[in-house]
This record gives sequence, structure tokens and C-alpha cells, in this order.
Amino acid sequence: MKNILSYTPDELKALMVEIGEPAYRAGQIFSQLHKGIALSEMTNVGKKTKAELESLMDCAFPLVRRKLVSALDGTVKYLFELSDKNCIESVVMKYEHGYTICISSQVGCRMGCRFCASTIAGKVRDLEAGELLGQIIAAQRDLNIRISNVVMMGIGEPLDNFDNVVKFLRIVNLPEGINIGYRHISLSTCGVVPKIYELSKLDLPITLSISLHAPDDDTRSAIMPVNNAWGVGELLDACREYYKVTGRRMSFEYTLISGKNDSPDSAVHLANVLNSKLRSRSETMPIHVNLIPVNEVEESGFKSSGRDSVRRFAAELEKRGIRATVRRTLGSDINASCGQLRREESQS
Ligand code: SAH
Repeated sequence: MKNILSYTPDELKALMVEIGEPAYRAGQIFSQLHKGIALSEMTNVGKKTKAELESLMDCAFPLVRRKLVSALDGTVKYLFELSDKNCIESVVMKYEHGYTICISSQVGCRMGCRFCASTIAGKVRDLEAGELLGQIIAAQRDLNIRISNVVMMGIGEPLDNFDNVVKFLRIVNLPEGINIGYRHISLSTCGVVPKIYELSKLDLPITLSISLHAPDDDTRSAIMPVNNAWGVGELLDACREYYKVTGRRMSFEYTLISGKNDSPDSAVHLANVLNSKLRSRSETMPIHVNLIPVNEVEESGFKSSGRDSVRRFAAELEKRGIRATVRRTLGSDINASCGQLRREESQS
């Protein structure tokens, strides 16, 4: 059954009319749901209507199956259970400017990145638009807060679930719904090139984050199988097009793995490839590289780079006009990186 949160206001309206209810009810139901009021709790919807809707669709919010709160920085990690008992993870982080949620886009992932815990058991299924929204709604409801920023960096590859993700983006932006501006949303991809072009055509001013992790095809293909389909050159061409169409700054994720991609030479190579592919004399595309010492996942055997290598890597980039920041680790005491909690749960 389709989740009630996957309906747009217009779709809900059409459905209400179909079941013989006044169309205006749809608006009331939509805005309450997206504020975190469950259908069963609504006082202005009759019993009969509720029962009818419940027979036609899944009306539940994601269930909090586990919740871990960091004693260090208040980061909250959720293991949410969906109606079919599958579990996904979301993380809520507090910054000076407000709350950011990191959400999952699929149950599992089929992209096979060698350092990543979410992909080890493959992909189970895509999430519906409503299950993406549900993570935000359930977290806001549980914590009694308003979330202002969304990053799609949890479990799954968002561009491998394109239609549902785009539908999610449009609904989360609605003023009568969760009302989060596109500029407050980042989508992270391992580089599904044709979908980057497709996304650029939609002209949604979100921030695109590219998980690059290596400056050359040999290194990248060894850690990210997706690179065998679309190499670094093709990926950066797509990034350039995305910037040309949307004008949005790009950000690149670079996970530092000891002895694999973290040498000063790699940094020089990275700066050169970004500058030559993305910047010409007439264009100074703003580029930001986020450096993330790899979170050690037992199965991968990869080791995190030391502080000095990280600092040196950043310095080489900066010297060549590329802004680089070392990601602050939040929630390190609760295993806040993606995929690890779901994996723990499925093995227990
Ligand atoms: N599939 C998307 C989004 C999910 S992963 C993508 O690939 O971008 C979110 C980010 O975490 C990506 O940059 C990913 O490469 C990174 N990541 C995954 N496993 C990691 C690990 N063990 N240590 C550090 N970063 C990791």
C-alpha cells in the first residue's frame, strides 16, 4: 500500500473526491500530516473517513525502533522501522543555524562503494517519496523541533531512486507542508551521470554534492564500482553542466583512506583535475571539497588517514584555489555514520 505521505495535495484532493469527501478536507489532512499529526489523532476528520483512508493506504509514520543520543554533541540517530518492517537510518544534527537531518533514500544500496557499510548487503528496495518525508516528520515530532536543513546522505543512492526523490523534493518544499527551501537541501551522489543531467534540467536550486573520493579512474574504480560506468572525466563534465544550468555551487566529498587516496600527490592531482575540468579563464566556479577521514568499517579493512595527512591534503588543495574543510565529526560516540546501525540490527 502506498504511504499517505507520498500524495501531493492535488493527488490527495482527487482521492478524497473519489471516496465522496469534500475536496477541502484534503488540504486539512495534508497540512496536519506534514506537521506531524497522525491521521488517527486528527480531531476534524470523522471516523468513517479515517477508516476509509486507512483501507486504501498506509497511514503510519516511520516508527522509532531505536534512538541514540550523543553525549558529546546531542546528535540523534534514529533507526526507523517502516510498515513492511524494513529499517532505515536518519541522523539529526544541531548546528548554530538550526537542525539538519540526514535522511536515507533506499533500504540498502546497490552501488557497492568499498568503504561503505550501507551497501554490504545490497539494495532491498527504493523508498517512496512519503517515506523520505516521513523521516523528517517523525524526527520533528519526536524531538519537538523544526528542522531547517536536509542532506540526502544517509543509506542509499538518491539518483538511483530518481522519481521518488524528485517527488520528495517538490513536496518537502511546499509552504503548506514541511516548507524547507531548496537552498537548504543537499543531495549527495556517487556519480550516476545521466541522472545528474536529468536533475539539472529540472532546475531545482538544491546543492549537489559529489562523492568523488579519488582524482583518477584507476583509484576511483578500485573503491567505487560506479566509476566503471562513468569515469571521473564524464562525471566532472556533468558537474559543469549542472553548474551552468543552475548556478549552484558544487561540493565534493572526499573520504581519506590511508595509503589509497590521501597522499600529497593525490591532492595535487585532485586540485589539477578540478581546476582544469571545471574552471576556465572566464568561469570561476565555486568549488568546495569536504574532507572526511574514512569511518572504519570492519568489512572494508580500510584505515583512516592520520591528522597530519589530512591537514597536508587540505593545504595542497587550498594552495591551488580549492576551498577545503575537514568535516567535523558529530555523534562519533553513537556510530552516527550511515549504514552502521541498520547493519548491526540486521545481524543481531
Ligand atoms: N549514495 C550517496 C549518498 C549516501 S553516502 C553518495 O554516495 O553520495 C553519503 C556520503 O558518505 C558519501 O560521500 C559516501 O561516500 C560517504 N561514506 C560512505 N561510507 C563512508 C565511510 N565509511 N567513511 C566516510 N565516508 C563514507
